[in-house]
Amino acid sequence: PAASSARGLTKVYGTGAAQVRALDGVDVDFAAGRFTAIMGPSGSGKSTLMHCLAGLDQATSGTVHLGSTEITRLGDDALTRLRRDRVGFVFQSFNLLPMFTAEQNIVLPLDLAGAKVDPAWLATLVQTLGLGQRLTHRPSELSGGQQQRVAIARALVAQPEVVFADEPTGNLDSRSGAEVLSFLRRSVRELGRTIIMVTHDPTAAAYADRVVLLADGRIAGDISDPTPEAVL
Ligand code: ADP
Ligand code: ADP
Repeated sequence: PAASSARGLTKVYGTGAAQVRALDGVDVDFAAGRFTAIMGPSGSGKSTLMHCLAGLDQATSGTVHLGSTEITRLGDDALTRLRRDRVGFVFQSFNLLPMFTAEQNIVLPLDLAGAKVDPAWLATLVQTLGLGQRLTHRPSELSGGQQQRVAIARALVAQPEVVFADEPTGNLDSRSGAEVLSFLRRSVRELGRTIIMVTHDPTAAAYADRVVLLADGRIAGDISDPTPEAVL
């Protein structure tokens, strides 16, 4: 099966006259081992789609699968476990713990699960993300781009099936943003990970292997091997 998929996914917020149809019958599959961007203007439903795919938000109707698990059938406890054990998250705001070093932040998901990090995997991650000289630094001693690379390493450390990245370059200048996007690409190419990124920025989306375009809660386009011109 696809790493992540939706069929007839509809999400309605509010009731009566205040009702907003954020997603309207979305059908989409995300293949394993690829870097896909979900792109669209503000209000097109990108965050809602990501939240439904990741089990952070409940669909109004339709189905969502993570691998072969239909997550739209799961209760709260099972969803909490699924988010903890099977998906990773990267946020615009990095969300690192300020009192912890880079290394402590990276291994935190495993610590919380009572698991030990495989030193070889940690070394591979750190090398792939260019963090070798930064492991003992606290977040305040790192640039924004370095902080986001630590957050990416943290999202990957438990080898989740899918990593969801929500506007990962939204708080970065264009140079650090480009660097972070290159590292996301490397994580897919060299580490075989699956990344689904939400962005409103065509330049960012063009780093992905595929761009799914959203408009008014519907799929409005699907571009493989995008160039910046193709997604504008
Ligand atoms: P995007 O991420 O593309 O900016 P969103 O998924 O955040 O789009 O929003 C899609 C639509 O749903 C917008 O009209 C937004 O105002 C609405 N929306 C999002 N979240 C909520 C919410 N919690 N309550 C009501 N409306 C919401
Ligand atoms: P912002 O775009 O304001 O920087 P984030 O990108 O940090 O916000 O978060 C985007 C969404 O993800 C928010 O709706 C927030 O509630 C949710 N979120 C943030 N951190 C976590 C987390 N650690 N686990 C689950 N959901 C989170």
